[in-house]
Amino acid sequence: MPQASKILSLQTRPRSVSILGATGSVGRSTIDLISGHRDKFHVTALTAHRNVDLLAKQARDLQASVAVIADEKLYGDLKKALDGSGVKAAAGHKAILEAAEMPCDWVMAAIVGAVGIESTLKAIQQGRTVALANKESLVSAGPFMMEAVRKSGATLLPVDSEHNAVFQVFDAEQREGISRIILTASGGPFLRRTRDELENITPEEAVKHPNWSMGAKISVDSATMMNKSLEIIEAAYLFNLPSEKIDVLIHPQSIVHSMVEYIDGSILSQMGAPDMRTPIAYTLAWPQRVNTTGATLNLNEKLSLSFEPIDTNRFPAIHLARQSLREGLGYPTALNAANEIAVEAFLQKKLKFRAIENVSEQVLQKLKFKAISNINDIFSLDAEARAIAADVIQALK
Ligand code: NDP
Repeated sequence: MPQASKILSLQTRPRSVSILGATGSVGRSTIDLISGHRDKFHVTALTAHRNVDLLAKQARDLQASVAVIADEKLYGDLKKALDGSGVKAAAGHKAILEAAEMPCDWVMAAIVGAVGIESTLKAIQQGRTVALANKESLVSAGPFMMEAVRKSGATLLPVDSEHNAVFQVFDAEQREGISRIILTASGGPFLRRTRDELENITPEEAVKHPNWSMGAKISVDSATMMNKSLEIIEAAYLFNLPSEKIDVLIHPQSIVHSMVEYIDGSILSQMGAPDMRTPIAYTLAWPQRVNTTGATLNLNEKLSLSFEPIDTNRFPAIHLARQSLREGLGYPTALNAANEIAVEAFLQKKLKFRAIENVSEQVLQKLKFKAISNINDIFSLDAEARAIAADVIQALK
């Protein structure tokens, strides 16, 4: 668990921050928080994939040192958009990695997908405080990431609302007193639908989450419950817990963000409105706190909280997470890669919603797993799993 004592107080001097994936849902919420606290934070680097206009606006507004667009073809557009602003423009994957390594106090890793592995790892290797939203990078390369955290002395702070909640109530000095953690799941937009009723779900329906406003990929993951599956793996690495100590409960209101149960029967939870600005603000100011302009919970309103066990036959993705953790290194990488390809195919209307988990399941069965000894083996396995997933999708047509 990270040590608060080595972090400089916000009162001492403003914190310099870089945001990888600044134009996404998490990135925009982070920008919103920083914009409200210009005295406490200033921006070093901002990155995006293709959204030049928003990236340039963010960089100008916050007077960033550098703005990086991943798609090299857009360098000219970015340079033009930043003309006269004093913000340096850069482009390409290598430039994103350089941005991740730039000296600063705090890095938000909010790129979506395993494409964020290298940049997240670079920030960790510099020993930075890294706020981790990019769960796919940890799921895919968890042991290497956690080893890099140990080696560099980096501070890894979970942004995912569930893991952030656990982090807030996890007493690391009483690890043996913790009986389990309980991740809550809203159940997504199709919680009460049978599998038969999922036959003709469209991308437009799947991205409409009932409680959270998020990017397209994670919204689809929430609808299939693959998001919870990835979160089980994420929690196993972050909190160093076996699969049996990580439970999931359906909690449709998304108010209790997760819980830690202790052996004396106490259950500690963190609650709040479903607004990502709360967990992001917690990591941004950690170990202090800053106010947000986000929604807050009004406990004077009639508030009912309900919890129910998850039906894993209805949501088979949960089994895939447990299987991947049981089988070990390589399986979570393949599961994540296969899911990324399947979700992309679904969003492009090339795959049925109901087939998403099936693609991942088939990839885990078909892939010939080899020994993994370094991060390059992870990249090779990721590529292999993607190729098999593409074949499986083709065969399903
Ligand atoms: P979005 O799709 O909204 O944003 C993704 C960001 O990554 C954008 O800035 C995008 O740039 C950038 N990006 C995409 N592809 C590449 C690439 N190939 N190279 C470089 N940058 C790239 O995602 P979210 O903000 O929803 O999610 C980000 C991460 O946070 C995910 O891992 C997700 O699981 C996690 N997370 C998200 C939550 C949420 O509420 N949204 C909650 C908890 C976790 P561009 O805009 O130019 O495409």
